[in-house]
Amino acid sequence: MSTFSGFMDEVDGISIDRFEEPNLSSTTFFLSHAHTDHMSGLTTYGNFQILERLPEDKVFIYSSPVTTQVLKEMHPQHENKFKPLEIGISQMIEIPSTKKTVTVTLLPASHCPGSVMFLFEVKNKTILYTGDFRWKLNQSIPKALCYSTGEVKTIDKMYMDTTFFFERYTKFPCRDDSIGEICKLIKDWIERGKQYQIVLATSAKYGYECVFTDIYKQVNIPIHVNQSQFDVYKYFPCMDKAITLEASNSQIHCHCNSWKSTCVNAGSQFVRQIKICAWSFSNWQNKRTISDRDTLHNKQYKVCYSTHSSYEEINNFLDALKPKEVEPNVIPDRKEDATKMYNNIRSYFKRHTTQVEQSPTDFNFTNFTSESTKSCMEKSNVDKEEHADIFDILD
Ligand SMILES: [Zn+2]
Ligand SMILES: [Zn+2]
Repeated sequence: MSTFSGFMDEVDGISIDRFEEPNLSSTTFFLSHAHTDHMSGLTTYGNFQILERLPEDKVFIYSSPVTTQVLKEMHPQHENKFKPLEIGISQMIEIPSTKKTVTVTLLPASHCPGSVMFLFEVKNKTILYTGDFRWKLNQSIPKALCYSTGEVKTIDKMYMDTTFFFERYTKFPCRDDSIGEICKLIKDWIERGKQYQIVLATSAKYGYECVFTDIYKQVNIPIHVNQSQFDVYKYFPCMDKAITLEASNSQIHCHCNSWKSTCVNAGSQFVRQIKICAWSFSNWQNKRTISDRDTLHNKQYKVCYSTHSSYEEINNFLDALKPKEVEPNVIPDRKEDATKMYNNIRSYFKRHTTQVEQSPTDFNFTNFTSESTKSCMEKSNVDKEEHADIFDILD
């Protein structure tokens, strides 16, 4: 779950993925994707001080066209506050409070529909904010990150998703393989007859947009979900066919009665359960199968699926872009995990000592974290429930 403060040390007047105090002093806002841990101050149950700012303040929230659509659906009365930016096209934006300009380019983040990274270019500084992202090993570097000569741009600072930046998560199967496995388990079961039902068990409440749309594409059956899931997913333009509130429309169920319970249709003896998770697949390697069958309950399967980059993918991303400074966007609660993560960042700097001007010389958890991130962590009022939404911690 994101612990990013919203502020970048390099550009004043901007906030990213935070829309409440102390970020309300900013006048230009960016949202990387529509997941609740990036939307504090914008979610349906929040107060919307940011949206009530006067039109003459020229305060806007910039995001990808898909995310803008989600925001407009959520807050139709404030739709003039949301501005879409095309992916891959650099745009100059004036920051009202400082009267300075920043050039911003959106890059696909492959995390959920509409998710992007932001590349900010100001005088003498280039900053990349990744938001949540899944990088493919050795994928080609987006054009926006290269000079016209083809050389990779110098990135002075990277604010990076570090959700799985631990050696125990060195590898994950690619998303296509995970989805293929899920669909294989579904088809093999439901083709036996109408009474054969699938229960998708997830340990986070939301964030399965791609799983649901991909299942729908391959199996052509919408997933039966509960009203509160429906209310969140319905804002995504691509989700309308992939989910349903009608039990009789589906043989695939996901917390469709309420959180952690399913409708009576899924209560029969002809149920196969598929648990979708990444956290419990530590030390997953290519040689292992993508799914594990529960030895006690032979109708239960676990499938490894991740919307965040693995340790190996993050290192590959760092090695390709060689940022001069790295700040983690996801700092673990446990000190020993935080220490491991900082050591991993340090290892990256050690590999590239010739390329970097600045590296954290004195490893120290508190020294390394910027002031703004520290204060945000102290003030963080995210409760355990919301934490569980994003982190796969309940299995
Ligand atoms: Zn996310
Ligand atoms: Zn159901």
